[in-house]
Order: sequence, then structure tokens, then C-alpha cells
Amino acid sequence: MGANPPIYLDNAATTPVRAEVFEAMRPFFGAKFGNPSSVHRFGREARAALDEARERLATCLGAHPDEVSFNSCGTEGDNTAVLCLWRAVHGNGRRAVVTTPIEHKAVLAAAHQVAAEGGEERLLAVDANGVVRDDSFDALVDDAVAVTSVMWINNETGVIQDIPALAERAKSRGALFHTDAVQAFGKVVIDARTQPFDLLAISGHKIGAPKGIGALFIRRGTPFEPLIRGGGQDRGRRAGTENVAYAVALATAAELAVAEREAHWTRMEALRDRLQARILEAIPDAVVHSAGARRAPHILNVSIPGTDSESMLMALDMRGIAASGGSACQSGSVTPSHVLSAMGVPASLASAAIRMSLGPMTTDEEIDRVIEVFPKLVAKSRSLSAA
Ligand code: PLP
Repeated sequence: MGANPPIYLDNAATTPVRAEVFEAMRPFFGAKFGNPSSVHRFGREARAALDEARERLATCLGAHPDEVSFNSCGTEGDNTAVLCLWRAVHGNGRRAVVTTPIEHKAVLAAAHQVAAEGGEERLLAVDANGVVRDDSFDALVDDAVAVTSVMWINNETGVIQDIPALAERAKSRGALFHTDAVQAFGKVVIDARTQPFDLLAISGHKIGAPKGIGALFIRRGTPFEPLIRGGGQDRGRRAGTENVAYAVALATAAELAVAEREAHWTRMEALRDRLQARILEAIPDAVVHSAGARRAPHILNVSIPGTDSESMLMALDMRGIAASGGSACQSGSVTPSHVLSAMGVPASLASAAIRMSLGPMTTDEEIDRVIEVFPKLVAKSRSLSAA
């Protein structure tokens, strides 16, 4: 506490808007306020900015500009992908959606909706690290499957799936393939020219753009039923006057994320590894989730036996450290994370999970302070629960 500034270790939840991004979108809250559908000069100016943002984002994805559809967030992208693909292609014996039990709720809820509309929902098995099992993929992705959706990087554990390979295999069985790349953009190489996914969702607020903007890559020729209908904007894929300011923000943030990807990966990985090693040294029975698999560098999810995440998070917050739990708090009751449950983590361990997620701004000094404070809080929490 005291004079120490707070430490933000919740970058998987959201990130601050970058100064460059704020500056890039500022003119669109002033003189450049036009509606891109208007034919006069104000409209043409807005249209040009929107087109340019689309081109810049397309370049970041290895896509054609017409394959980029701006939307409001990752949740909208995931919902649109799963539901709109399924609605467009189900039939001819293909009525199933295949996904994983470790997806974000944005995908799981859309898959439930498919089932409510007469489709079938299938969940792939994952191993103890949260990696999709090959045998399960082979068994479930058959010729009754319309759409397969697998997230690239998991938001709770950071586990990375081999999306290019899974997309290839789904497509060889005639299923369309969507990936939730909300945590993956800016972390792994994403290139629609060489990787065969059909749809891919990203979200601005995870990469230094504001909340309320996202984008969906929709490969040319993919059948698609719009979710939002109206004035025919975005080639009829998503009606509604476009958010030009935020599209410019997303394109700017995306370019920065791609340019800085490797440098940020190396830095965050070193910090995360140091944090992990020191926690394990100080607390030998701590369990690091997904430690045996390829993991994104910004996420450390660790369970401390004999503690519970809610009180640990509060104690950390009191010491100025902002982290998050592996559990969802719904109407006052804490349910263990569906991700950790699917990996076979016992409920007692899952309810002791702490997720610390780093960002490009995280410093060595901040990690030093967490390393100093964390074991003390664990010892205190354990002595309280033993008393
Ligand atoms: N998918 C993943 C993996 C996420 O981490 C999130 C955000 O937490 C989402 C989807 C939803 O994104 P948004 O908050 O932009 O709706």
C-alpha cells in the first residue's frame, strides 16, 4: 500500500487505450464526424477513413479488405460466426456445431442457441493442460458437422491450440472453421493467406483500443446470414452506421500489436517465467495450470491449495495488485471455472485459482513487488484458514 502505485495484472480482461490510438481516433469526435453513407464531403471523408481502417486491419490479418467486418466486440464476433455460419449452411445432413468446453461463454452460448434452434452441439475433449485431444477431434468432426469453433488462446490459462492444423482437418471433412482469436491477436502469427480458418474474431479492448469495437474476418465465398439487418451497411453483413472513430482506433492498435508482437512476447514471457518460478519456489505446492502445454506469454494461472481465490484477490487488491480469479461470480455465488473443470482440475483447486495477466506496460519492478507480496499473503491466508 502506501506510496506504491497500483499494479495492473489483469490485461486478459482489458487493456488501457494506447496514447497513439487515442490520438488517431480523436479527429472523428470533432470535425470529421460524417456518416460514411452520406454522399457529401463529410460523408466521403468518413468513408475514406473507414475504408483505410479496413485496409490497414486487413493487412494485419493477411486478408482482403472486403473480408473484414467491423463490429462491436469479441462477443458479437463469436456469436455472429457460430450462429450465422450455422444458419447459413445447416441442412444437407450437416446440423452439428463442434466446439470445446474451454471456450469463452460468447462461443458456448452461441452453440447452445444452435441447439435451441434444432441443431446439435458437440464438445471436444481436452487433456489435463486444456489442449484439444486429437482422438476426440477425429471422432466428433464428421460429415454431420456444419461448423467447428476452437479458440486460439484460452483467456484463463493461456493455452495455445494449433489452429492452422485444426482448421485444415475440419475443412478436409467439409466443416467450416471459426476461431476466437480475441486473446491471440498480437500474440501469435495470424495470416489468412496461409492459415485456412474461414472466420476469426478479434476484440479491440484487449490490444489497446477502446471497449466496444471488434472485427470478424470472413473469408471470401463463405456462406453467411447476417445477424443484424437494416440499412445494408458493410455489404449487408452488419447493418448500422459504422463507428468510424473506433474502426480507426482498432486498425491503429492492430498495427502496433503486430509490429511489436515478437518484442512483447519475449519480454512478457521472461517476466511471466520469473514470476512463475519464484511463486513455485516460495510455495512448492502451488499448481500452475496448463504448464505442460504451449502457453501465451501474458497469462499465469496458479492455484494455491488451502486458499480461496476471492479472499486472495481481495488481499492482493488491498496491496495494490489487481488480478483476477479462475471463477465466475454469478448472482453472489462463486462457481469454479468451467475451463479448469473441463481440464479435470478438482473444484477445491479450481476455487483457489488466481490469474495474473501481463501487458506490454508491465515492468520488472512490478513483478519484483508481486514476488515479494504474494507468498506473504498466501502464508497469511493459510494461517487464517488453519486457525
Ligand atoms: N473471447 C475471449 C477469449 C475473451 O477473452 C473475451 C473477453 O474476455 C471475449 C471472447 C469477449 O470479448 P469482448 O469483451 O470484446 O466481448
